[in-house]
Amino acid sequence: MLPHDLLTAHFRIDDAHKKALKRLHIETVEDLLLHLPQRYEDISSVQSVGSLMKDQDAVVFGQLGGLKTRKSWKSRVPISEGWVEDGTARIKIMWFNQPYIAKMLTDGMYVKVAGKVTGQEGKLYLANPEVERLESLPIDRHDSIFKNTESLDETIYPVYRETKGVTSKWFFHTVQKCFTQGVLDHMHDPIPEAILKRYNLPILTTALQWIHTPKKAEHAESARKRFAFEEVLYIQTTKARERAQVSAASSYLVQTEQAHIEAFTSRFPFPLTAAQKKSIGDILRDFTGKHPMSRLLEGDVGSGKTAVAATTAYAVATSRPPEGRGKALEYGNLQVAYMAPTEILAKQHFESFMKYFAHLPIQIGLITGSGCMKFPSKTRPTEATSISKAQLLKWVKNGEIAILIGTHALIYKSVEFKHLAHVIIDEQHRFGTAQRRALAKKDARMPHLLSMTATPIPRTLALTVYGDLDLSLLDEMPKGRKPIITKVVAPSHITDVYEHVRGELKEGRQAYVICPRIDEPDPTMENALQLKSVTEEAKRLKKEVFKDARIGILHSKMKPKEKDAVMEQFLAHDIDILVATSVVEVGVNVPNATNIIIEGAERFGLSQLHQLRGRVVRSNHQAYCFAVTSKDSTGKSGKTLERLKALTTAKNGFELAEYDLQIRGSGELYGMKQWGLTDLGMEAIKNLKMVEAARKEANHLIETDPDLTQHPRIAKRIEGISRELHME
Ligand code: ADP
Ligand code: MG
Repeated sequence: MLPHDLLTAHFRIDDAHKKALKRLHIETVEDLLLHLPQRYEDISSVQSVGSLMKDQDAVVFGQLGGLKTRKSWKSRVPISEGWVEDGTARIKIMWFNQPYIAKMLTDGMYVKVAGKVTGQEGKLYLANPEVERLESLPIDRHDSIFKNTESLDETIYPVYRETKGVTSKWFFHTVQKCFTQGVLDHMHDPIPEAILKRYNLPILTTALQWIHTPKKAEHAESARKRFAFEEVLYIQTTKARERAQVSAASSYLVQTEQAHIEAFTSRFPFPLTAAQKKSIGDILRDFTGKHPMSRLLEGDVGSGKTAVAATTAYAVATSRPPEGRGKALEYGNLQVAYMAPTEILAKQHFESFMKYFAHLPIQIGLITGSGCMKFPSKTRPTEATSISKAQLLKWVKNGEIAILIGTHALIYKSVEFKHLAHVIIDEQHRFGTAQRRALAKKDARMPHLLSMTATPIPRTLALTVYGDLDLSLLDEMPKGRKPIITKVVAPSHITDVYEHVRGELKEGRQAYVICPRIDEPDPTMENALQLKSVTEEAKRLKKEVFKDARIGILHSKMKPKEKDAVMEQFLAHDIDILVATSVVEVGVNVPNATNIIIEGAERFGLSQLHQLRGRVVRSNHQAYCFAVTSKDSTGKSGKTLERLKALTTAKNGFELAEYDLQIRGSGELYGMKQWGLTDLGMEAIKNLKMVEAARKEANHLIETDPDLTQHPRIAKRIEGISRELHME
């Protein structure tokens, strides 16, 4: 660490700056240096006003002055004029017939001006230039910082992410000040040099210089690569360490037999798919190992994850210690915890399990924020009954309840199991080793973990964020499912869609209408806008399109309880059309909803569109998805339609996720924020070689130095990552 780590003490930064920096999580010199440029601009493209020549296409940066509007003498055309000044000279600017321009601009404003140099020598001006307003002027050749840089080969300068009160330029100058004051002499590279050498990556101090003051574009590139590698390496190391810790722990041996399992699955009203059989096999095999299983079951919506979960729960709940091995297995009946992200989903899983276990004397509990249930009821064995939380907890603790399904309420302190052997998690990306331990309480044995997800993510991302898990794929849909009919629709054809949906409603079906994604950096603002768009669209549909329909709304500003209530109504068919933001993603099963209209479809990534249309695949009725674009298929949006067409051709969600990542960039990846990666880290995810290299090095680090005692700097960094990834 740096001896003078307090940035403020060192640079005497004022309070306003301090506050602004804090918003960017910058408190130390190191933080500042790791606030990496977002991009670079080429200074050579910045011309000085003094050097402009007639007929040149000019781009200049400067301050506006002398703005006024008048009418021309002869034609009476309004003319706006003024000048732009950059420290070398000023040049006149004129706009003809655009009187509003001068109104939008003010004297003293910083601007980028682009236009053709017109007029006579000595009376040059820029005619009808484009003007872009800037927060501050970029760095250019005349900047003090470039006084001694005549030797620059290329002339690129960094552009930093700004925040109110701190400009990109401020960052540039402060970073340079750090450099000249010798701060780099105190920096230590957390990554062993041998690793960097293997991949030809620069050491920390070089990388910092290259990224903040590149002399060549390749230098900046090389430095970015290093920092991206570093981020992936830390995540991989975190995961490798978790994996090592888990495989050092002991777990419960789950004993079962093929015939026994088949007796259970043969009662299903359908044959298992080959993928389901294989996944069940993977899990049962893991159950017989000495150490806890850590497995991810990945499969599109509707691929039948619940049936897999139920079968493995059955194996655990009916497992008995084998004869003659009593000593090693002095525990009795084993238990299962099944955690869902929302209350309504927990209830749905509970109901599914009631069917799967209807014929068995196995007690199943449900625990959510709003109450507890148990199946079967003593008096009516085909039904579930409400019980008090105290009663439920007692039966969980003494082992009578073999399977407990619930929301986050499951991991509360008060919930104690007798022998928790198997934890099943539905769509919880941040469920980590710590939560797993918390569930096991004081139990010396760690439960097996089956994490399930329908979130389509590319392989490189899975290798990184799920680096601690083994993978089973449900890459096959149950037979006989009618594929969703997906149509990409231009707004001029929306009436056909409405017509179709009206027909479906008449047939007794239901529909979702998804409002466009709103990109807004300020989350409270984004929420407000979402709310507005959802309520307004619902009103409009009611008034103009579906006059007789019962329309409900769902958006992210609602409380979980309110969301659940609306979903219950939709499920009970008290609502015909649900107008929603993309909060509807996480899977509630409403089999009667067979239509989904997604407005502003081009604003979503393909993988998210896929996720959204997953809402309507559960039915025996034909399902429809209408991806409606905001603009008709002219010009640029022609490409948009082309991209959206992939929805109708891709085989599964993973293919679409790969497509998003490679074609559109990581920003398009579904649910990007939840993975806890920075933009740079996400960029790295595009590069399979880099991800594999980082994974290899991370595994090696942990194999040779499990507690990272020889790499304290890495240990320190991953501590923070671990906390962030799992929100501990
Ligand atoms: P997921 O959780 O993977 O999205 P579910 O487990 O909810 O999917 O299953 C969706 C539907 O498919 C359920 O109604 C389930 O009963 C049914 N299902 C599961 N497996 C099969 C199968 N092999 N064949 C036919 N239907 C199946
Ligand atoms: Mg599911």
